[in-house]
Amino acid sequence: MEDIKNIILKRGKEESLMRFHPWVFSGAIYSCDFEPQEGELVNVLSSKREFIAKGHFQPSSIAVRVLTFDNEEIDLKWWKSRLSTAYGLRKAIGLTDNPQTDCYRLVRGEGDGLPGLIVDIYSHTAVIQAHSAGIFNNLEIIAKCIVELYEGRIEAVYNKSDGTLPFKSGVDMSDGYIFGQKHDVNVIENGNKFSVNWEHGQKTGFFIDQRDNRELVRKYSKGRTVLNTFCYTGGFSVYALRGGVEKVDSVDSSARAVELADLNVRMNFGENASHEAIAADAFDFIRRTEKTYDLIILDPPAFAKHHKVLGNALQGYKRLNANAMARINKEGILFTFSCSQAVSKEQFRDAVFSAAAISGRKVRILHQLTQPADHPVNIYHHEGEYLKGLVLYVE
Ligand code: SAH
Repeated sequence: MEDIKNIILKRGKEESLMRFHPWVFSGAIYSCDFEPQEGELVNVLSSKREFIAKGHFQPSSIAVRVLTFDNEEIDLKWWKSRLSTAYGLRKAIGLTDNPQTDCYRLVRGEGDGLPGLIVDIYSHTAVIQAHSAGIFNNLEIIAKCIVELYEGRIEAVYNKSDGTLPFKSGVDMSDGYIFGQKHDVNVIENGNKFSVNWEHGQKTGFFIDQRDNRELVRKYSKGRTVLNTFCYTGGFSVYALRGGVEKVDSVDSSARAVELADLNVRMNFGENASHEAIAADAFDFIRRTEKTYDLIILDPPAFAKHHKVLGNALQGYKRLNANAMARINKEGILFTFSCSQAVSKEQFRDAVFSAAAISGRKVRILHQLTQPADHPVNIYHHEGEYLKGLVLYVE
């Protein structure tokens, strides 16, 4: 067995772990019989010194991210088995061998029993993001397991952890290929083509989590005028065009994003698509434009990264949604999202309710949206449910 050191919890602090919640907060620790290193594998013991869990230590408010509640060894076999379980779920939901969709999330942290690890598959490339030093220290093993799991179908594994690690304890963090090298950058999602740049793009290069919601936009687009704000690579715009939109405007503050949106539209529909890409601040654009639309999409970046700024974030959602409702034509549709983990479903809905009241429009909820099945939520870790969306009918 490995030589693993122990962290002992304060009395009563084991309760959430007994319910399989995978985090140990620093305030729950009674004592350590050593000075834990960032990323070190540790045992978590109850105040009675009984084994509860094993996980990676991180010197932060979440002190241990639990890998297992069994007293088992975390070796190559263990990593293989966890990754193979993650693969099995994607296979079960029809994503691993789908000619219409070759990009999906293979691992989503706690949702796959692998806290701190994100793996996205883009055709023949896997892009890995480590959010903890414990995961970062195991990148080579993880890459090896992924390559084996796909039996030749994954030709490159790219590490993109530089921007996501909380601490940088002297290790070389630079992004780069752990296996293979750069090749194709085009993916297909529900039959739509997208160019993905994992090396320079935001997050792992593409927002896979809106796949199902984009498909719903397609269904509502026929004959409508659409405004896609915070468009990034133009995902919603491509689906709107696929659905037979009359005209779509894509807005993002990043000039690079707007170029990408344009490129993706051209890749699917040629030069004469009914699309305009506008580099602008979306808050300003919605406030100032004199245009009105039949369907508006609001998919802003996370306003609240921490609970401390929650109040401001909710105000932000309220104002943005109220301004958007004022720009929607009669009998129009609003797709509105929040990806802030710190904002609950109820809080987001309250903010949108207030926006409806401010706008004075008659508003009904058509759909309540969330993240797709390749972003599973560990039932013992409700924090994993981060994407919230409402589709509203605005009379
Ligand atoms: N809807 C996109 C993902 C949105 S990510 C998709 O389906 O892929 C959030 C985007 O908001 C990023 O592209 C970022 O550049 C953009 N952004 C951030 N602040 C902005 C602002 N004030 N105005 C417009 N866009 C902004």
